[in-house]
Amino acid sequence: MLPDVTGNRSDGRKGDLVATDARHVLHPWADLSALGRPESLIVCEADGVEVVDSSGRRYLDAIGGMWCVTVGYGRRELVDAMRAQAQKMPYFTPFGDISNAPATELAATLAALAPGDLNRVHFTTCGSTAVESAVRIAHLYFASRGMPEKRHVLSRVDAYHGSTFLAASLSGKEADRTRFQYESRWVHHLASPGYDPDTSSVSADQRLRELVEGMKRTITEIGPEKVACFIAEPILASGGVLVPPPGYHEATRELCRRYDILYISDEVVSGFGRLGHFFASEVRFGIVPDLLVTAKGLTSGYQPLGAVLISDRIADSLVAGADPAKPVFSNGFTYSGHPVACATALANIDVMERDDICGHVRDVGPYFIDRLRELRTSPIVYAVRGDHLMACVECQVPGEVGPTPRNQALAQRVDAYCEEAGLLVRPYENLCILSPPLVITRADIDRIVNILADALARAEQDLR
Ligand code: PLP
Repeated sequence: MLPDVTGNRSDGRKGDLVATDARHVLHPWADLSALGRPESLIVCEADGVEVVDSSGRRYLDAIGGMWCVTVGYGRRELVDAMRAQAQKMPYFTPFGDISNAPATELAATLAALAPGDLNRVHFTTCGSTAVESAVRIAHLYFASRGMPEKRHVLSRVDAYHGSTFLAASLSGKEADRTRFQYESRWVHHLASPGYDPDTSSVSADQRLRELVEGMKRTITEIGPEKVACFIAEPILASGGVLVPPPGYHEATRELCRRYDILYISDEVVSGFGRLGHFFASEVRFGIVPDLLVTAKGLTSGYQPLGAVLISDRIADSLVAGADPAKPVFSNGFTYSGHPVACATALANIDVMERDDICGHVRDVGPYFIDRLRELRTSPIVYAVRGDHLMACVECQVPGEVGPTPRNQALAQRVDAYCEEAGLLVRPYENLCILSPPLVITRADIDRIVNILADALARAEQDLR
């Protein structure tokens, strides 16, 4: 029997959906020790910046789905585009010399929005497959130039790049390293580049020097002739909204250029408006990467889609150096550049341009960060950091710094109180991470800050 939209079944058995979920679903990134417990929040409806769960409770979604719902829920234009494309032509293979009209049109649109000379698009299905494809392209690029041994990859501690084998191996969040397997022979993690002037004991310049020296040292130890690429989120998102010191992006870009290493910018989170621009690399951080990865906000989360943007320079090298016996670009997925997803992305970009969503983020983003920073007066807040519409509040039991068990329990308590008051924030270790839909208003921001302030006060009270 089908549940209605509130999750109740038409036979009147309330809460059945939660029990069914507990019985049958293995959630991504779930706490295994809680498997089978009927505790899931089952989201059944959504509108604007709010979602409704299976018991009919409404929440302000300060997670933006998962960093991805940018233009808000219930956008007629996106839904119409999905429906129209599904009716016209829901699917055909993207392999070989076949494409579909929305994918072709979207590639041209992305090329026009992309930084510098990034002019060619390889579609995938999500962020992880785009990350994975970008690294494979880097490998192929050097193999095409007669340097197949140039295959080592540089990432960073605290990075998150996805959940396929290679993307998970590139990710550097210690807490995520479990009993799964990870590639370690040719994946290397540089130091976490976050710099917070509020809490750091060293200057930004000194931190920058250490980070650049560390990267240079690692390249030299491995041997530049063996290093293919460096992958970097402009601001590390899931790792705790870590903002590198000024100059970091240019300096690492320069090192890559010096040592003939491809720079892959992972803009899965920072792209599509979250930092106030379609892409942050060039406008915000002054660099043009060799490859750029996008997903999430590309379709505003309405459809799964990812893409790697590549310069003609690199694409031309792949062609020039292809194996004459097997000149095939052997990478791609059944659903790469799915027509319904690409049509959704086109409608999403139209809405973003028409409503000047990036301009709106540039307007409300500083207000969001300023208002959140007021929370630093709470004795259980260690730091508040972020940029435009990505932010986090780091909790601490007074005097205890870092993701200690007590600090993590404290943050979970804050999250639980927020949820009770109708606000969804994302818990990670001792952090409350926020990435609201980009259409958020100042009034919504005030509501988020007020609920968080109350939740912090209640959690602090519990410590007494
Ligand atoms: N890269 C970054 C920076 C991400 O934050 C994520 C997901 O959160 C990914 C890649 C992986 O994207 P997906 O979950 O769509 O595979």
